[in-house]
Amino acid sequence: MAKCKYCGGDVPNGAAFCSNCGGRVEETKNHDFADEVNDKINEFTNTADTTSEYSPEDISSNKFMAIFAYLGILVLIPVFCAKNSPYARFHTNQGAVLAIAEIVTNLVISVLSGFPAIGWLFTLIGGIADVAFLILLVIGIINAVNGKAKELPVIGKIRIIR
Ligand SMILES: [Zn+2]
Repeated sequence: MAKCKYCGGDVPNGAAFCSNCGGRVEETKNHDFADEVNDKINEFTNTADTTSEYSPEDISSNKFMAIFAYLGILVLIPVFCAKNSPYARFHTNQGAVLAIAEIVTNLVISVLSGFPAIGWLFTLIGGIADVAFLILLVIGIINAVNGKAKELPVIGKIRIIR
């Protein structure tokens, strides 16, 4: 049940006018928890898409090279075999940033998880981080295959390779 903004009376859901004062009822959908989660997901995945800056020929001939950028040491394949491809370089950068973030996180976690009493907490955080890195990796590969130069959530803005 919505409230009329003129008289404060109850207005049945879906009614266009208040039966009490005749005022027009605006759709006031409550922003519920599901919307909140949805907004957050959109915010998270709505990263910069620079696909239009790359030529369609570059994208179509190097999209499979770009996949290797996310497969650990195989990032060396696009580094050496597609060094003239801006599209492959875009994904090489993302894959390299992701790999470095993962290595650094694992190092920090392995130190912190050795602490007595609270070490388990860091082991737990490390497990969650591993899942997050896996999700980013999958997003990166999906973008690469789909010919999208779309930044990864959270870390996609970082540039170490141009
Ligand atoms: Zn009213």
